[in-house]
Amino acid sequence: MLPPGRYHRHVSTLLVTNATVLVTMDEHRTEIPDGGMFIRDGWIEQIGPSPELPAVADSVLNLAGHVVIPGLVNTHHHLYQTLTRAYAQDAELFEWLTTLYPVWAKLTSADVNVSARLGLTELAMSGCTTSSDHLYLFPNDARLEDEIEAAAQVGVRFHAARGSMSLGESDGGLPPDSVVEDEAAILEDTRRVIERFHDPAPGSMLRVVVAPCSPFSVTQDLMRESAALAREYGVTLHTHLAETIDEESFCVERFGMPPLAYAESVDWVGSDVWFAHAVHMSEAEIARMADTDTGAAHCPASNMRLGSGIAPVAEYREANVRVGLGVDGSASNDGSDLLREARQALLLARVRRQGMMPVRAALELATLGGARVLGRDDVGSLAPGKVADFAAFDLSRIEYAGAQHDPVAALLLCATTRAAYTYVHGRPVVSGGRPVNVELEPLIEEHNKAAARLLA
Ligand SMILES: [Zn+2]
Repeated sequence: MLPPGRYHRHVSTLLVTNATVLVTMDEHRTEIPDGGMFIRDGWIEQIGPSPELPAVADSVLNLAGHVVIPGLVNTHHHLYQTLTRAYAQDAELFEWLTTLYPVWAKLTSADVNVSARLGLTELAMSGCTTSSDHLYLFPNDARLEDEIEAAAQVGVRFHAARGSMSLGESDGGLPPDSVVEDEAAILEDTRRVIERFHDPAPGSMLRVVVAPCSPFSVTQDLMRESAALAREYGVTLHTHLAETIDEESFCVERFGMPPLAYAESVDWVGSDVWFAHAVHMSEAEIARMADTDTGAAHCPASNMRLGSGIAPVAEYREANVRVGLGVDGSASNDGSDLLREARQALLLARVRRQGMMPVRAALELATLGGARVLGRDDVGSLAPGKVADFAAFDLSRIEYAGAQHDPVAALLLCATTRAAYTYVHGRPVVSGGRPVNVELEPLIEEHNKAAARLLA
């Protein structure tokens, strides 16, 4: 197996052709009827109406009857939680966490690996091509490598967030002492994984993110030192913030200020920072997010499942805050379907505002928005010079019957379907609706066994 994140292949060309409509998400939001792309070595060289593209390539993908979109970008997730779906069913965040921490304390390296293979496969089958993952506990022999290797095997682009928890129950934190780590060890291991795995180059398959878990599970010192470490290496920063009213109360009580002010007090705002959730933000705080170019990962299903609140996603867009989508969970969603998440975001924004966030804005959140949040300009849209990360959906399915007059809106408004094809860097990851690089049924069986052992 190749080392994670680095791929060396000989140059080859791929012609994508005859798509019913190809959504570019370029600066003019161009949608091309009978669209196609000419791709060389994983990079888009030409894009346009199919008859205008070169007729010959090493391989050809005929997408007649399909809508093609830029690969979806997932900005917040905890892949290991696929092992504890449908658990703590009626609990809000803090109770949900304290119920699950002891279960997660049993996670092994093999568990982290199988859950990441399963969750990333599920994401790829929903059209996702780039995912971040926030792994914030490392019990037993678990390592960040476990999910990095899984991403390389599935074939998706990956931003591995080296998470951490250091504030245990005995120090006034939420997690039990058994799942927190020593701060010096956290920083040392974070430095190790950045040096070993982070690839900042355009088209990178693997980047590392520094990601202490949340205000109620790490100390102010660790937040500050994590920010300094990330900036020493030029890597991005991620944490949970302003997810619930309980968290806001915790911050006011412990730090004397609400979550965003707390984050700013420990150097956690800027164009290299994004927060998961950012639900409870005032108008002034939304403006501060914009002024500091701090990003937000909107996770509508998780927020609804845990009764956390409704994030001001339309307001973020209007204020030009960088905002993308995250499936979160998967123990608080409990799925890894990013197209469905875009639909949830659309509907929930309309509930909050009692107004109309446009349909295509939801697709923009899931593509271009996510790319901006992760700090990438090479993914999230389809144009010459971008990597060939795309997904294709079959318009002949029953879900889209009656909506053929606008296949793009159909993806968001109709019941969502799995992607027929998902390509990352010009390579198939899902083909004919099936994952290409993993055996699906044995993977599900292996995953179910691991989940059963964990919950026993
Ligand atoms: Zn989360």
